[in-house]
Amino acid sequence: MLKLKGKGACPGIAVGIISYFGSSAPEITFKNINDADAELERVEKAKNTAKEQLLEMYEKALPRLGKESAEIFQIQCALIDDLDYNKAIINMITSQKVNAEYAVAVAADNFAAMLSAMEDDYMCARSTDVKDVSQRMIRCLSGSGEKNFYDGKRIICAYDLTPSETFRMNRDNVLAFVTARGSSQSHTAILSRIMGIPSVIGIGRELTPECDGKLAVVDGVEGIIYIDPTPQVLEEAEKKRADAKRRQQLAGEFIGVETATKDGKTIPINANISSVSDLETAIKNDAEGVGLFRTEFLFLECGELPSEDVQFEVYKYAAQTLNGKTLTIRTIDIGSDKRSDCISVEHEENPALGYRGIRICLDREDIFKTQLRAIFRASAFGKIDVMFPMIISLKEVRQIKEIISEVKNELRIMNEKFDENIGFGIMIETPAAVMISDILAKEVDFFSIGSNDLTQYTLAIDRTNPNVEKFCDPYHEAIKRMIKLTVDNAHSAGKKVKICGDLGGDPNMTEWLIRAGIDEISISPADILEMRKRISEIDLSEAEETVS
Ligand code: PEP
Ligand code: MG
Repeated sequence: MLKLKGKGACPGIAVGIISYFGSSAPEITFKNINDADAELERVEKAKNTAKEQLLEMYEKALPRLGKESAEIFQIQCALIDDLDYNKAIINMITSQKVNAEYAVAVAADNFAAMLSAMEDDYMCARSTDVKDVSQRMIRCLSGSGEKNFYDGKRIICAYDLTPSETFRMNRDNVLAFVTARGSSQSHTAILSRIMGIPSVIGIGRELTPECDGKLAVVDGVEGIIYIDPTPQVLEEAEKKRADAKRRQQLAGEFIGVETATKDGKTIPINANISSVSDLETAIKNDAEGVGLFRTEFLFLECGELPSEDVQFEVYKYAAQTLNGKTLTIRTIDIGSDKRSDCISVEHEENPALGYRGIRICLDREDIFKTQLRAIFRASAFGKIDVMFPMIISLKEVRQIKEIISEVKNELRIMNEKFDENIGFGIMIETPAAVMISDILAKEVDFFSIGSNDLTQYTLAIDRTNPNVEKFCDPYHEAIKRMIKLTVDNAHSAGKKVKICGDLGGDPNMTEWLIRAGIDEISISPADILEMRKRISEIDLSEAEETVS
């Protein structure tokens, strides 16, 4: 048995067979070759295998993702035969006498750079596809084909997973995620929590592709994976699973009960969702609404910008499904670790401090207005609030309001119905927003604290960098003061403060947050009932529990 320790990113126990996900960039070695014809033959073979794989993926993705999203595999298939790309590969092999892997990688880099420099969004988006395709071909050349993730439930192990790789996986077939790298506040870890899939990150280099096909136990609480577990570990895992089930059953008694402390203070608990498929868990766990719909994942899934109608249908479906409960839609927060194929962001040295969230939206009014029109149209079908990420200034809020008023006018002219009183909120997730929260409070209906980014920007600790995670103290006095200041300023202006960052789901902070005056909490859907139970045990009339 091999026991590897990392960090638990989503609790839960999983037992199953490992599939090693090899989509991360394969290593490329440079070699001089003598036989160019043999190398060209290898390229042809790799192209055919890659095309077969992509067509198979298209067929399998079609019923699950729909035509529009599945088409990405057809587009990638066509890119493999692109004349310029192929000419560049052939040229390098025949004139520079380099190995096929190296030629494919360099040709792809050049081709991708050319595409991403184009003004056209569609062509820009293809640059990521070129890189994807070349990595697939390199894996075919080296004989390390990609696993088929559609055949049965597996524990997915990987060196690292991007948010879009995680999001695109068929969650019904994933028992657990385990990665060599990763940090617990990255969007990949957050996604696993929203999906309620046990996950362990930061295992280190000992987690290698050799684990593929082996039996394993994943303990998302302790942050451990046991590869080839002993009968004793398997028995222990069964016990832990039974305990977790019992806890869930106990929490099940809180379905249909209003969330309130022992002494009667009500604190609605909403769900964080990243797609409409998370609504099922949210409803099953009796969410009192959706406090954060991270809409950017809609943009990560498609190869091109989702149209107004596609977005409208998604938001309308979510609003209708919630049946009168509030759906809080956050406009796209693309950038940093959430890269979209359809909105190109240049390489940045410091992406967390870069072109992200509202900055992109205020620059790209076409994309922003399309999303706002879709949200407002959907508001005719249910209770919707809209909120905006990464705010740092009053100027941004005023600009957003102006754009909203233009969108409303356009909709009126087009005789489209919408809710005139749609709630208007902003995320408080930068120290700048906290420090001017007294000014911002006068402009909005509510604040929602994004503690993940607020922690990153306050402590100057990149939330995606595993090397600095050990320096991160989520209970840092500075964060607590930021939250308290925000709440006090909002309440002075008669406005509500919610929290949708992961601190809201941390049971160690629940009592502190409620005592600080937080009005609503939004957390991973699967954790709602246990949180409701926990809140019901808090008595605010008793002496305060300290969190440090
Ligand atoms: C946050 O920053 O706390 C937040 C909720 O937004 P995201 O995690 O999507 O950046
Ligand atoms: Mg954030």
